[in-house]
Amino acid sequence: MKDATKALHIGYDKDNQKSMQVPIYMTTAYEYNNTDHAAKLFALEEEGNIYTRIGNPTTRVFEKRIAALENGIDALATASGMGAIFYSIANLVNSGDNIIISNKLYGGSITLSTQTLKQFGISAKYFDPANPKKLESLIDENTKAILFESIANPALTVPEFDEIVKIANTYGIITICDNTIATPYGVKPIDLGVDIVVHSASKYIVGNSSAIAGCIIEAPFAKEKLKTNRYPQFNEPDESYHGLIYNEKFDNPFISRARLALLRDYGAVLSPFNAWLLILGLETLHLRIKAHSENALKIAKFLLQHPNVKNVNYPFLENNENYKRAKKYLKFGSGIISFELDSYEKAKEFVSKLQIFSLVTNIADSKSLVTHPASTTHQQLSKEELINAGVPEGLVRLSIGLEDIEDLIEDLKRAL
Ligand SMILES: *Cc1c(COP(=O)(O)O)cnc(C)c1O
Repeated sequence: MKDATKALHIGYDKDNQKSMQVPIYMTTAYEYNNTDHAAKLFALEEEGNIYTRIGNPTTRVFEKRIAALENGIDALATASGMGAIFYSIANLVNSGDNIIISNKLYGGSITLSTQTLKQFGISAKYFDPANPKKLESLIDENTKAILFESIANPALTVPEFDEIVKIANTYGIITICDNTIATPYGVKPIDLGVDIVVHSASKYIVGNSSAIAGCIIEAPFAKEKLKTNRYPQFNEPDESYHGLIYNEKFDNPFISRARLALLRDYGAVLSPFNAWLLILGLETLHLRIKAHSENALKIAKFLLQHPNVKNVNYPFLENNENYKRAKKYLKFGSGIISFELDSYEKAKEFVSKLQIFSLVTNIADSKSLVTHPASTTHQQLSKEELINAGVPEGLVRLSIGLEDIEDLIEDLKRAL
């Protein structure tokens, strides 16, 4: 079955009402047949619904569809993208361990890895995803994960997948790829050998800024790495389930443990209503991401030839530093562009003149968005710090929506 068909049909067996759309099971709990049935469910001897914190039938349809689209073996939905990233790290580490992270990551992933996880005794080291030569020298016996993004937010860096995966496989370390911006239609990291894929489903998957959500997808081959003694929690008894050993009981040990231990105890569960919004989003994702990408490439080319624009960053521009890797790994470039104007004042003036683009710190809406990092997300940084962080004061980021391309270019022309 091809992707667009999977996105519309997988995982839903029509119930006795024959409802065409997946029903929203807006419930916390489910009735047991009797105490024996309940005991079997709790002992994991039988599959079934127990309590929505660890599983829900509406959410399960979304999980099956996104797992199928990413060529994974299983998926787990979470309350947010950050929830998904936290669980995918927390599933692998113990106090004293470290992870290796791309130096071009979403801000929340950087603060999680370098600041918040410190209190659990977890440390992070940086590598360059475009040139991962030094990655190998950062690995030690306590390294448990390598985290990077398929198109980095906001730098738009495209990683050298083959080299990263090769080094990770040599040492048996789990790779985690955040595929939020590229989406499974832009690239399938699992096909390139990545073990775990995560998404902020708040972005292109839901597609219209209507819900915060996330998900984790497990590759069929992740288990091979989890079997080694680098990952003891998958090979030793879990006392909270009568001595269950995840690698012995499950073909999908990563998602099973994330659900049965992490979701049970940390509790960042997705609302079934939001899962339903994600199901609607997946129905049209293949059409939307193509349209976002086509609009974005046209706008990147328009900006490139405009005399007031200093430089334009979009992976599918031929002069871009990511172009070779974009051609090699990605089907299209997604909807995010950044470009530089002469000064802080020029950037502010540009933003204030836009009529269709909205000033918002978000990406991947169906509506076009603009951000000026120097006056918002990065306002505490000095002029020099801004340059070091790769966000000069005149930098503007656009998230290109699904409006008519002529209207968008007209809006940009006027503001420039
Ligand atoms: C937005 C985003 C996140 C965080 O997701 P939330 O759903 O907002 O928690 C993580 N990674 C990337 C690449 C993002 O763009």
